[in-house]
Amino acid sequence: MESKLFFYNTLTRRKELFEPLNEGRVGMYVCGPTVYGDPHLGHTRPAVTFDLLFRYLKALGYKVRYVRNITDVGHLEHDADDGEDKIAKKARLEQLEPMEVAHYYTERYHRAMDELNVLTPSIEPHASGHIMEQIAFVERIFEAGYAYESNGSVYFDVEKYNQKHHYGKLSGRNLEDIVANTRDLDGQQDKRNSFDFALWKKASPEHIMRWKSPWSDGFPGWHMECSAMSCKYLGEQFDIHGGGMDLMFPHHECEIAQATAALGRDSARYWLHNNMITIDGKKMGKSYGNFITLEELFNGTHPKLEQPYSPMTIRFFVLQAHYRSTLDFSNAALQAAEKGFDRLMKGVETLGKIKPSAATSEGIVVADLEQRCQEAMNDDLNSPMVISALFDYVRIINQVAEAKAIISEADLEELKRVFNLYVFDVLGLRNEKAEGASAGGDMLKKVVDMILSVRQDAKANKDWATSDKIRNELTAIGIRVKDRKDGVDWELE
Ligand code: ZN
Repeated sequence: MESKLFFYNTLTRRKELFEPLNEGRVGMYVCGPTVYGDPHLGHTRPAVTFDLLFRYLKALGYKVRYVRNITDVGHLEHDADDGEDKIAKKARLEQLEPMEVAHYYTERYHRAMDELNVLTPSIEPHASGHIMEQIAFVERIFEAGYAYESNGSVYFDVEKYNQKHHYGKLSGRNLEDIVANTRDLDGQQDKRNSFDFALWKKASPEHIMRWKSPWSDGFPGWHMECSAMSCKYLGEQFDIHGGGMDLMFPHHECEIAQATAALGRDSARYWLHNNMITIDGKKMGKSYGNFITLEELFNGTHPKLEQPYSPMTIRFFVLQAHYRSTLDFSNAALQAAEKGFDRLMKGVETLGKIKPSAATSEGIVVADLEQRCQEAMNDDLNSPMVISALFDYVRIINQVAEAKAIISEADLEELKRVFNLYVFDVLGLRNEKAEGASAGGDMLKKVVDMILSVRQDAKANKDWATSDKIRNELTAIGIRVKDRKDGVDWELE
């Protein structure tokens, strides 16, 4: 496919033509989960957004190296540089080895991502497995003169950095605003300024996750892992850095400062940020009582939920909104997504069954579909526009199935190709019902086909009573029978 892909680059605040550093190859880094709790609704948006991007880049023919990290150390409570490491805290409370906690939740995260049909990234590095690289990165910042040591901890000298560079350029802040909005927290006496951030923290005696370093036995600051690991796997400069909007400040701002200090320039060229999911207009959080895990969503067990929602309903729900707009979760919105997704899957199934004619009805231009999908994706990954184009063609497919329009063999093949490409490869949807049906369903199919052949015999013998009885009883158990000119067809309700 020819590419004229445009992204909204958060760094420059405008849509830019995507031109990779190396022709035909893309390096992409996305901030992954902190593995100290169950994967939840909030994880779906970055996961699906960057999966969509990954899939589309591959569909365009790029070789993509997609790195998504696992944060298993260094992410502190309150997002400040003091407080307890989240994983260590969980381990202490549950009397587990910290790696047990990290491993358990990493597995849970992977399983949820499989359910959502989110592809595995090319590399998934763990912060705890890259302590040496992080220490080396801190040393480079030291050598460049932007770090200072204080009681065994190392901090980034934001004020000094800001004299030469702009700390806050990604989130559009100035140091003065940041100073005005920084709270002085206890235990920050080691820092020269409250807005300085930790590159390395000395561990207190009871802290279990600790490593040796030139400064102290301790652990890296949270922002360090992404700088060190993106540099290791994608090089000092790479194409795309993604993450949720909530990470823009301080996390990504600090990553930019670290890279610029150590390497002398920005490492990522395009910064992409997905917007957040709200619930009934509110931010999701444990304190709001609206914190919903993916398992609860799939099973319908959270008190806020009127029913379970399947993984593909959730995926479709996320894709129906543009990644930079807010997305409000409610039962009504999810139920609408469920209906929409169902309609699309039925369209795909019908597409597989319609028969070609000698020509295509006037007014049906199959070639337009791919163009519309591609233009939408090239315009900053506009997945809702892709879906709306697909729905226009579902209408056409239904017209053909109802013999209100005809389609030639070549057009039918083209339509199938484009539907496959966009529905399954790019949007990454799966026909859950059909899969469920084929799991226990091979047998079901044989049985229903057999019953329907008995009905065909009855019809041939003009035994309308038996024919109607079979149809009505199948309908009653959720199997809809459709009589067609050239035979009979059926589907699960
Ligand atoms: Zn990160």
